[in-house]
Amino acid sequence: MVVERVLGQQYFLIIEVKCAWIAVCKAFEFMSRKMTTHMSLLHRDTIQMTQSSQPTKRDCYPASGGCQCGAVRYKVGRLGKASICHCRMCQKAFGGYFAPLVEAFDVEWTRGERTVFHSSDSNWRGFCHACGTPLTYEFEGHLEIAIGTLDEPDIVQPEVQVNPRYRRDCFERLSALPEKPAEQQDADNAWNATVRSNQHPDHDT
Ligand SMILES: [Zn+2]
Ligand SMILES: [Zn+2]
Repeated sequence: MVVERVLGQQYFLIIEVKCAWIAVCKAFEFMSRKMTTHMSLLHRDTIQMTQSSQPTKRDCYPASGGCQCGAVRYKVGRLGKASICHCRMCQKAFGGYFAPLVEAFDVEWTRGERTVFHSSDSNWRGFCHACGTPLTYEFEGHLEIAIGTLDEPDIVQPEVQVNPRYRRDCFERLSALPEKPAEQQDADNAWNATVRSNQHPDHDT
């Protein structure tokens, strides 16, 4: 009798362990199915993003742009690699933490002309003489356009950081900064709607 009871307890113990193992397997299977669904959704999102109607560089050639006041306008036959430069000269020239620039080829100045500052032995900085908008970074046979001056800045995406050792301390935290509360943004939008802009539109006129 005692032997039977011990064997019986072992038998139930084995069944319990088996049940627990099956439960773990089921849970794992459920989780992995959920993960796969989630990942495929993410993947689909990624595909949708890459197939979105965002204009590409090629769709927009010749790309156009200009300064804030419209005194200087340009067309670009082809855009190359885009970057952000952290060097101290770019910080000064743009009045910002870094300079977003894209290589530009076959540039035609369609209205006005940029003014250039010989910022070093071999480099020039182009800007609008009337409104001060930074427009170019140039050296012998090479010209880069300030990305923010393109009529459609999203047609290029920065691919590399240049001179990272001059990066400002706050750079890493910028994208994590809190946004103004929604009601304050609504108030800002309402106020902005009352202001008459003197900025040139994002197309040739
Ligand atoms: Zn201007
Ligand atoms: Zn620079």
